[in-house]
Amino acid sequence: MGSYVDEIMELVQRRSPGEPEFHQAVQEVVESLELVLERHPEYRKAKIVERMVEPERVVMFRVPWIDDQGEIQVNRGFRIEMNSAIGPYKGGLRFHPSVYLGILKFLAFEQVFKNSLTTLPMGGGKGGSDFDPKGKSDMEVMRFCQSFMTELFRHIGPNTDVPAGDIGVGGREIGYLFGQYKRLANEFTGVLTGKGLGWGGSLIRPEATGYGSVYFAAEMLATRGETFEGKTCLVSGSGNVAQYTTEKLLQLGAKVVTLSDSSGYIYDEEGIDREKLDFVMELKNVRRGRIREYAEKYPHAIYTPADPTLDHNPLWNHTADAAFPSATQNEINGKDARHLLDNGVYLVCEGANMPTTPEGVELFIDKGILYAPGKAANAGGVAVSGLEMAQNSMRFNWTRDEVDKRLHTIMKTIHAECVDAASRYGTPGNYVNGANIAGFLKVANAMMDQGVV
Ligand code: NDP
Repeated sequence: MGSYVDEIMELVQRRSPGEPEFHQAVQEVVESLELVLERHPEYRKAKIVERMVEPERVVMFRVPWIDDQGEIQVNRGFRIEMNSAIGPYKGGLRFHPSVYLGILKFLAFEQVFKNSLTTLPMGGGKGGSDFDPKGKSDMEVMRFCQSFMTELFRHIGPNTDVPAGDIGVGGREIGYLFGQYKRLANEFTGVLTGKGLGWGGSLIRPEATGYGSVYFAAEMLATRGETFEGKTCLVSGSGNVAQYTTEKLLQLGAKVVTLSDSSGYIYDEEGIDREKLDFVMELKNVRRGRIREYAEKYPHAIYTPADPTLDHNPLWNHTADAAFPSATQNEINGKDARHLLDNGVYLVCEGANMPTTPEGVELFIDKGILYAPGKAANAGGVAVSGLEMAQNSMRFNWTRDEVDKRLHTIMKTIHAECVDAASRYGTPGNYVNGANIAGFLKVANAMMDQGVV
């Protein structure tokens, strides 16, 4: 079977050269599927994996816009429609200078399995642009979003493809994108999720990824009869996922001691309490400032600027019980993983997508710590996006409590699915295998039913 994994990897590397993140994501999944494919030769015969690694459709387009100085700027826009076997394409848009085809293909591929795990009928997709919203005025962001949607609108729709936010795409960007879609399509429809509450958004959507990640982590702790009360946690990032991860951890009695952005990180030994978190939310969501300002406001906290010459991230080198990487891909390498283990961390829950390198993942699995891969742990965001779609279709809104309960139930179900699939396929306690296998089976069976498409 090893040779089948090699065959798939050879195919992917030959067909998609220069896309290391995509190769990494595929490799992790196909390695998990060895036993499944051995027990089910029908999937191999139907070339299910070969079809899954090939996007159903890739759209790439020019996004010209005019900056505040009157200069013409040109960015590149993308939408990867990866797999629609179990529902319309669904997945976020990322605006970040590092965006290129390979990053979005990795994210779209992960999304297929993640969406399958949520139990909701959603296929997988992802999109975005190399546009950097940082330092741009609101009007520049609006002009960019309008130009981006002017092309994207012809490829999406409430029953076709429903984008949402991701890095660099929050409430402000979704608003501008939705406004332009509505204008072009001449209809008010649930074509995007993460909308404002007054115009079709769902309660709990902003909180969903962070809350969901902590709900999943709490389920993992419960398998050892523990709770978050009194636990010390490291959180990276200071955006949407990091903020609501911190909020839920505080509610459950944990202490969060770190947050970061791409310029550096803060370590607050006393813990980030409610008041300090409110400061971070205002700093990041309204003033759009840097995390460094936290240490200016709370001088007992230590700010460490990011140092690209280091071979590790010092944020992961503090004594703690749990870690919640919630910034970006490959932010925990092998050395960081060793630091975490040496500092007492025995739970790692990925709010971000693929934040741990393969070397780090191997270390966590070898040590038998509670380790949740992003496609399971951060599925709460897209799950509540699915609930937003359901509410839009019904033209009805659930209460905050109702959505939160549904989110909590979904995260518990995903946890149970992972545990069950991992044991059924011979690796009990391995959430990576559990998530990949459970996510794969639903999509693979739908593809088998639908013929060669
Ligand atoms: P935001 O844009 O709100 O925040 C991202 C945070 O990560 C910021 O603090 C940002 O710092 C930091 N960051 C981004 N890129 C880098 C980088 N290359 N190096 C260091 N720090 C970086 O994004 P989200 O919170 O929405 O997303 C965070 C992660 O969670 C991503 O991996 C995303 O794919 C994943 N995710 C998000 C979901 C959602 O619902 N939003 C759902 C599921 C997964 P700076 O401001 O300096 O760039």
